[in-house]
Amino acid sequence: MLYGKVIQDVLLAEVAEATETMLATGSAPPHLSVVLVGDDPASQIYVRSKTRKCEAMGFGSETIIMDSESSTDKVLATVQDLNRNPRVDGILVQLPLPDHCDQQAILDAIDPDKDVDGFHPCNTGLLAQGRPQFVPATPAGIIEMLHREKIEISGKHAVVIGRSDIVGKPMAMLLLHRHATVTICHSRTPDLAVVSRNADILVTAVGRPGLVTREYVKPGATVIDVGINRVSDREQLENLLGDAADWKLYDERGYLVVGDVRPDVAAVAGALTPVPGGVGPLTIGMLLVHTLRAARRRRGRAM
Ligand code: NAD
Repeated sequence: MLYGKVIQDVLLAEVAEATETMLATGSAPPHLSVVLVGDDPASQIYVRSKTRKCEAMGFGSETIIMDSESSTDKVLATVQDLNRNPRVDGILVQLPLPDHCDQQAILDAIDPDKDVDGFHPCNTGLLAQGRPQFVPATPAGIIEMLHREKIEISGKHAVVIGRSDIVGKPMAMLLLHRHATVTICHSRTPDLAVVSRNADILVTAVGRPGLVTREYVKPGATVIDVGINRVSDREQLENLLGDAADWKLYDERGYLVVGDVRPDVAAVAGALTPVPGGVGPLTIGMLLVHTLRAARRRRGRAM
């Protein structure tokens, strides 16, 4: 099993050390500003865990909470204030935004030098050209994991299931730049199992519980499960997890979190990221790495 928490601990130790060095030179700590629009409970939890980790690293952080009715113009004005604020190194707009907000316009307004989530078209373009500045945290974390686990990418066949701007597409780019032969699959790919069975590295970012069964996996392949799916149907959970289901947790919460990959794929795969505990922790770790990078670049420029 590939546990992201282990890699996250290493990443955070490196970030803490680099931050200490930065502070020792009299520099201000890296500062992350998070914009949260609305009161979605899952988003609130994500934002809290991001800012808590920032504080633990000695970063400055703030969460700007905006009413769920806030207009696109109002959110844009907040982003522009943060762009202008010299104290702010990284800006993150928590997604999803309420339906009435123009998400693209808001992401496009973030200063590309402060775009620690890597969603701005400038950063997407730089990634496509193989000279990345800021890359979305989840695929960046997966690359970090493959690298640190010494899983060879060059010359391998990688199959990415999912083509979102946040995970699938940047993942495919990062693997391509590391010399994998990359196939991108999506909801209209016929014979998905046949295609994915060719993969030495299989990444699934779909959001369909248990989509990937043993039939999708070449024996010995590395399988990275990005999917985060809340399942409340007990029968479906019994079918997916069998004896491994944590029914105590289920009774407390009324749901369990499962990935896109059936856990019994572990018997065929060479390595598999569990859900939860696999890719998830890497995302926050990489966000802090990117915020530190933004701060260093900006200090370097200012000094
Ligand atoms: P998305 O909805 O934007 O994209 C899903 C993709 O899956 C689409 O490209 C679609 O074509 C493809 N797809 C849908 N049904 C399919 C099918 N039956 N067969 C093949 N492809 C299919 O989602 P996203 O934002 O990329 O997120 C994907 C999953 O990853 C979600 O479960 C999300 O919660 C999770 N996620 C996890 C993290 C993390 O930190 N671990 C970060 C981001 C997203």
